[in-house]
Amino acid sequence: MGNQKLIRDPQKIEEILSIAKFLRLALSDAETPYIVSMAFGYKDNAIYLHSSREGRKIDVLKRNPRVCFEADIETEVLTDDDPCKYNVRYRSVIGHGQAKFLEDYNEKVEGLTVLSEHYGKKGPFEFEAWKVNRLCVIKIEIEKMTGKESGF
Ligand SMILES: Cc1cc2nc3c(=O)[nH]c(=O)nc-3n(C[C@H](O)[C@H](O)[C@H](O)COP(=O)(O)OP(=O)(O)OC[C@H]3O[C@@H](n4cnc5c(N)ncnc54)[C@H](O)[C@@H]3O)c2cc1C
Repeated sequence: MGNQKLIRDPQKIEEILSIAKFLRLALSDAETPYIVSMAFGYKDNAIYLHSSREGRKIDVLKRNPRVCFEADIETEVLTDDDPCKYNVRYRSVIGHGQAKFLEDYNEKVEGLTVLSEHYGKKGPFEFEAWKVNRLCVIKIEIEKMTGKESGF
């Protein structure tokens, strides 16, 4: 594996998630994979996402709630005079889990709070009820998660 290595320390994996700005959410609809970038928040082994109630990802998730996600930080291409010696530096996380649409109003607010806090502001927040009701808040209960770093 060279200078690439798996990160096994859960705290280090959580640290990557706490820094990452977005994640890529991979969905599976019968034979066709589908992937979307999403803003997210992480707390207590769960990922929180928000979205409008319609669209392809929502349709796919309703048919198949099993998801995979990936997030990365500190990414950089390390160039060299010899292109065969180019390298990529990164820290990343890949996880698998089950997506659940939160229906309870307070749970939705809790999810939106985790998401909002991920981007630097400290709650509690005032969310307008009609906006909370209009939105989908998705909780991914993480079943498995690995970290990896390379180029450091
Ligand atoms: C950095 C980043 C952060 C984002 N954060 C969020 C978030 O927090 N919540 C959220 O709901 N969305 C977010 N988005 C947008 C998200 O990636 C999707 O575009 C959006 O959620 C609509 O998905 P959908 O499946 O409903 O698309 P639909 O409107 O149903 O898409 C129809 C078709 O349009 C194409 N398409 C859809 N999205 C994209 C795209 N992003 N780029 C290119 N083609 C596309 C696909 O071919 C798709 O089949 C983010 C995007 C980026 C790049």
